[in-house]
Amino acid sequence: ESQLNPNYNFTNFVEGDSNRLARSAGMAVANKPGGTSFNPLLIYGGVGLGKTHLGHAIGVEIKDKYPDKTVLYISSEKFTQQFIDSVKSNTRNDFIHFYQMIDVLIIDDVQFLSGKTGTQDVFFHIFNHLHQNGKQVILTSDKAPVDMQDIEQRLLSRFKWGLSAELQAPDYETRISILQNKLFRDGVEMPEEIVEYIAKNIKSNVRELEGVIISMIAQASFNRKEFTLELAKQIVDKFVKNTKKEVSIDFIQKEVSKYFDMDVATLQSKTRKRHIVQARQLAMFFAKRLTKTSLASIGNQIGQRDHATVLHACKTVDNLTETDKQFRKYVEDLRKKLTF
Ligand code: ADP
Ligand code: MG
Repeated sequence: ESQLNPNYNFTNFVEGDSNRLARSAGMAVANKPGGTSFNPLLIYGGVGLGKTHLGHAIGVEIKDKYPDKTVLYISSEKFTQQFIDSVKSNTRNDFIHFYQMIDVLIIDDVQFLSGKTGTQDVFFHIFNHLHQNGKQVILTSDKAPVDMQDIEQRLLSRFKWGLSAELQAPDYETRISILQNKLFRDGVEMPEEIVEYIAKNIKSNVRELEGVIISMIAQASFNRKEFTLELAKQIVDKFVKNTKKEVSIDFIQKEVSKYFDMDVATLQSKTRKRHIVQARQLAMFFAKRLTKTSLASIGNQIGQRDHATVLHACKTVDNLTETDKQFRKYVEDLRKKLTF
């Protein structure tokens, strides 16, 4: 069985500036699976932005156009579990064989393969086989390949072979369209003012946009109430409060300083002492990774440096992470501290 969800199709995937590239690349792949240079097609973006939806939509479309092709959608966790089970039951070869027979393989959330060397190894071989035989691979991830951690280099380099397309947070117009589309599909009418209120206040997650509508409908029907702005405000408030706050640059500087046993002023100082420079670069690197702050503003907040310095810091950290074991441990330790 393909494991595809027919409700996640192209028809109800609302197009906007934020997803146009990924959506049209997905369409191109669906028209000619294995026959475009988008192989693999890697769709990446933050949580709730439509990666899973688009992954299914490509598969559903292919099944529609090419009923004879075998299409399989699978999450990386399930793939990993199947692999582990196959090793335990001595059926590793069957596992590999099964995957090598597929025409279109859609693997969701490949960031979960990070650190799982056995699964990465087997996936590497499956990937090569499929690719060499002109089969289509579609991957989704919450990060761009350059930002993926603990994925083997040879696999990462293959992830970059085709096209990486980002799903961005939807702009206001697209948020309105998504809300209207959802309301239309649910056969519900809602005053424009309320739709606009929701679109103005829920910005970075399509799942939350839909969640607000679902709650509104549930609340209104349960309490036999009208859709009021008041109700929308209450529900939006709950969603906004529950969204985890991003870490602050202050917090990052404090944690990095503490980790290297220095104070924040030292970290920010103009010194060129190597261990201090490295601590500062790590703070900049994590500020870039974990916040939505611009390079210029990060530089400004971490010892009044310019954006080029921050960019250089991020590259240096990437390089050192790959070449220096001790440094990689710093990055891993700090990431744990900063992301809880
Ligand atoms: P992700 O896998 O990126 O976390 P999902 O694909 O699960 O996100 O999307 C979350 C919800 O938002 C799903 O219900 C999906 O149908 C919906 N969604 C996301 N993007 C769009 C879009 N462009 N148009 C319509 N619905 C969307
Ligand atoms: Mg998903």
